[in-house]
Amino acid sequence: MKKQFFLLILLCLALCSVAQTRVVAHRGYWKAAGSAQNSRRSLVKADSIGCWGTEFDVWMSRDGVLFVNHDATINGIEIQHAKATEVRGQRLSNGECIPTLDELLQVAQGTTLQLVCELKPHDNKQQEAQAVKKLLKLFKKYGLENRVTYITFSYPGMRLLIQQVPRGTEVYYLNGELPPATLKSLGAAGADYHHSIFQRHPEWVTESRQLGLKTNAWTVNDAPTMRWCVDHGIDFITTNEPETLQQIIGQAP
Ligand code: MG
Repeated sequence: MKKQFFLLILLCLALCSVAQTRVVAHRGYWKAAGSAQNSRRSLVKADSIGCWGTEFDVWMSRDGVLFVNHDATINGIEIQHAKATEVRGQRLSNGECIPTLDELLQVAQGTTLQLVCELKPHDNKQQEAQAVKKLLKLFKKYGLENRVTYITFSYPGMRLLIQQVPRGTEVYYLNGELPPATLKSLGAAGADYHHSIFQRHPEWVTESRQLGLKTNAWTVNDAPTMRWCVDHGIDFITTNEPETLQQIIGQAP
C-alpha cells in the first residue's frame, strides 16, 4: 500500500513536469505548407497548432526600421547596413515580403502566442542600443508588453534590455557561456542555451530552478533530445518540429 502511494506521488510529479514544458516554434512554424522562416504565415501557423510561443529574429536597418529575418542578409542585402527602402519588399521563400517588426506585431495581435523576440547582435553598438529602445516602443504600441520575452546573443544587448524592459518582462541570454548564478546576478530571467550546453551541464538546470531562473533549450528537433529536455525539467523547448514535441509531451491539438 505504502509502495503504491509512493508510485502514485512519483507519477503525479512526472505528469506535472510534463505539463509545464512549453513549446516554442523556432522562427515560427516554418515547415507548415506555404510557410517560411520568420514569415507572417509561420506565426499564424504556430498559433494554429497551439504552440505556447513563437520565436523570431530582429535586425534594425541603418535608418532605424526593425525587420524580422534570421540571417544578417536578405537577397544579398545586409539589413543592419542598408536603408529600409532597400530591404522593404524583399521576398521570403514563400513569396511574402520580409515583415517589419511593426507588421509582424499586427499579425501577432490576432493570436494568443507568446512572442520570443531575438535581438540580433549589431556591429555598431549604438545602433543596437537604438534597436532596444525601438523594440520596447513597438511592443508597447501594440499592447504586447505582457506577451513578449527577449532573447539575445549580445551581452551588451542583454544588459540594456534588462535595464529597460518593464518590470516582470523576461530577458534570456543565448550565448551558453554563463552559469546560472552569473545570469541571476545580472538580472536575467535565465538561460536560453543550445541543448548540448545543458546536456554537458545538467546541474545548470537544477541550479537555475533553485535560483528561481528558467531554462530554454534550442534548437531541439529530434525525439530523444526532446525527451531528455522534458525529463530534465527544461521549462521551454525551442524547436523546428513543434508537432513532434507536442506529441511527446501530450499537448497535441
Ligand atoms: Mg533566433
